[in-house]
Amino acid sequence: MDLTTLKKRYPMGLATTAMNLDDFKHLYQYKKNDIAILEATPIVTDNKSWQVGDYQSTQNFLALCRKHRVTPQSIHSFHMAEIGHDMTDADPEVRKKAIELNMEMFAAAHDIKANYMVVHLFNEKVKRTPGETLFYAKEALKRLLPEAEKTGVYIAVENLYYDWTITQINHLLDEMNHPLLGICLDVGHAALYSTAHEELALCGDRLLGFHIHDNCFKDDDHLIPFRGEIDWQAFCLALLKNGYQGPLMYESFAREENESVDEFIDACHASYLKLLQLLSAATS
Ligand SMILES: [Zn+2]
Repeated sequence: MDLTTLKKRYPMGLATTAMNLDDFKHLYQYKKNDIAILEATPIVTDNKSWQVGDYQSTQNFLALCRKHRVTPQSIHSFHMAEIGHDMTDADPEVRKKAIELNMEMFAAAHDIKANYMVVHLFNEKVKRTPGETLFYAKEALKRLLPEAEKTGVYIAVENLYYDWTITQINHLLDEMNHPLLGICLDVGHAALYSTAHEELALCGDRLLGFHIHDNCFKDDDHLIPFRGEIDWQAFCLALLKNGYQGPLMYESFAREENESVDEFIDACHASYLKLLQLLSAATS
């Protein structure tokens, strides 16, 4: 398959985490690299580039996207346990507040025309049996799903480390059996407990999108692909086998020493072209 066809089938996406934490002004570098799709990851509620839920701030963010010809295709829920955003926290009050905060994210996702919202439904620091883990994930989804239904925004459950794999997520989605539920495959996380290609093979048609980044199988480094040790050729073969067509969303954010944000975005794009070369070789 030639590169033009592959670019259409698998356009590049880049999560806002590639820029400085809450500073989205480097979107001009997206435009320079022809990166037309982003995942909005606000991380903190007082994000200075986009205050989720604030009308004027949303308009400003959308105007910035238009200026740089970038479309937000997905949104990442608030998830940092350290700041009370864990929807499965051990403390019921924290859990309740985190779920309520993320319920409001659906309207925000709808406002920016995002197709889906990525959610974390597991915290490896809370000791639970697999049954309990599943229970709390289901409780969170039961609260979130009515908002998904109101807005038409899908929920993409992300795999996180050893005890929250695609197999577990498949159990969860089997039990919930809801058309607005799917999977966000985090390729870097998969490589820490299995392999990216084996986990991709388990996603089937539930795959809504990706978080693509690299590591050396020890830490969740969020490197640019080919800077770590993931077998990207095997990943590409699994991707072709899956039949998914849609953005290859990068969630790399770890810059090398002295690497600027702009250089980092350029390097992300160069790595995407390398992935396309692998895909092209695999299809010819
Ligand atoms: Zn991720």
